[in-house]
Amino acid sequence: MLTRSEEDHIKAVYALLQEGESAFTKDIAERLRTKASSVTDMLKKLSGKSLLKHEPYYGAKLTAKGQAIALQLVRRHRLWETFLVERLGFGWDEVHEVAEQMEHVANEKLIDKLDEYLGHPHFDPHGDPIPDKQGKLRTRKTKRLNTCKPGESVRIAAVSETTDGLLRLLDAKGLRIGTTLSVQDVHAFDGSMDIKPQRGSAFSLSKDVIHHLQVENA
Ligand SMILES: [Zn+2]
Repeated sequence: MLTRSEEDHIKAVYALLQEGESAFTKDIAERLRTKASSVTDMLKKLSGKSLLKHEPYYGAKLTAKGQAIALQLVRRHRLWETFLVERLGFGWDEVHEVAEQMEHVANEKLIDKLDEYLGHPHFDPHGDPIPDKQGKLRTRKTKRLNTCKPGESVRIAAVSETTDGLLRLLDAKGLRIGTTLSVQDVHAFDGSMDIKPQRGSAFSLSKDVIHHLQVENA
């Protein structure tokens, strides 16, 4: 059994590496909003349990065992988010904090039943893939909206930054996972983009917003 803090550190390393960033002590501390000294202690503890390797100039890397634990945490987190949105009627901007707590409930039967109850979903309400029981992730081809050119028609697949503010802005604009839109114009001056949803009229999105939207070809 791992403590909640141990699990949070493993997940932080996983998330940083997943985002293509390094997992140095300071990166982990920043992500968990904690002190570097306590991260150092925790990394020692976790490498003592063979869950990660920590090399001073390379940062932390998960072992196969650590990786498997991270994927199970991600699985629980995303299944709970799906449950909260689809079955309890939570908004997609309200579920992350609750799921942060629920992901530490490790009863395997509970999670298997939850997965079954939800019909074995492959993606969570933010469009992120849900690892299966074996820790396998479904992959698909997505790109950032800010790499799209005028004339392209795409479907919103995922929101890469699930901060409440961004999700509420998307709600206000009527944009959600699965929305099909066409790119009308890209403005070099401020990096903003004019888009037109399949249903509705055209409007502009800021550089920040289009950076956080993952899309697939429609
Ligand atoms: Zn979340």
